[in-house]
Amino acid sequence: MIDLHCHTLHSDGTDTSKALALLGDEARLTALCLTDHDTLDGIPEFQAMQPRVKVRLLVGTELSCRFLDQSLHVLGLLVDPADARFQTRLVELRGRRDDRNRRMILRLAELGCPVTHEDVQAQADSPLLSRVHFAKALAARGFVRRPPEAFERLIGDDCPGFVPREELSPAEACCWIREAGGVPVVAHPGRFGGGGFRWDDAMADLQRQGLEGLEGYYGEYRAAEQKYFVRLAAKLGMVVTGGSDYHGGNKPGLRLGRGRGGLQVPDELLVHLETQQRFGSYH
Ligand code: AMP
Ligand code: MN
Ligand code: MN
Ligand code: MN
Repeated sequence: MIDLHCHTLHSDGTDTSKALALLGDEARLTALCLTDHDTLDGIPEFQAMQPRVKVRLLVGTELSCRFLDQSLHVLGLLVDPADARFQTRLVELRGRRDDRNRRMILRLAELGCPVTHEDVQAQADSPLLSRVHFAKALAARGFVRRPPEAFERLIGDDCPGFVPREELSPAEACCWIREAGGVPVVAHPGRFGGGGFRWDDAMADLQRQGLEGLEGYYGEYRAAEQKYFVRLAAKLGMVVTGGSDYHGGNKPGLRLGRGRGGLQVPDELLVHLETQQRFGSYH
């Protein structure tokens, strides 16, 4: 089994890269791809764990795009961490995130929930600040009882305290990922668009924009969703990937490699992904 989607404290997870690599062995995985949001900062420490751990350690990232007026997450799997242009592009994305964070601090103050940059930074173990850290800071300041309440009332996508950041177009994200030697993949499509959203046409549109794969196996999918997305990928000729979206203590009960319990991502998906990486199309 493999896991091609997980996070460390370099974005919005809680584990160090080193602990994550060790956990990969403990979960008896054959491959593990680290996909922190907007950064490869966890990668050097992660890769340094090879060959101490047996699990193959792979490089990735997760970028946010604007699609149909919603946020669509795109995984850049197998990108080259030594690609200087890609690193510069990630710095730009983190700048947009910092800008959003500054505006969110102002907005929350207007809503009567003032938190400072220092309050938010105190909840993070790296410079990348995410809404997860805002939720914890709001709880620490007593504006909500617990962090999930912050997402329900204040900083969830449809809440008054949420400020969107400038997001990439899917085509732009695909170009960046491809130019860094990676494969662009639609992350957790089942989480996009709400319950009734039908993916058939939208996924074909994304494929035309450069998306080459989709996450058919996911830590929080129901069996029917997995079946639907694996079939859709086959229909469109896209590669299937899979991962837990493990965030350590920030997603309680969600385990590396296993998700909420039943996740099993087959090794052969990585073979297809690597073929896709080399040849562009795996037919
Ligand atoms: P950001 O990238 O700073 O906008 O933060 C997005 C992160 O916040 C996601 O990757 C999730 O980890 C988390 N998140 C977003 N919405 C929710 C929610 N409704 N409940 C819990 N966590 C959420
Ligand atoms: Mn996350
Ligand atoms: Mn995501
Ligand atoms: Mn993720």
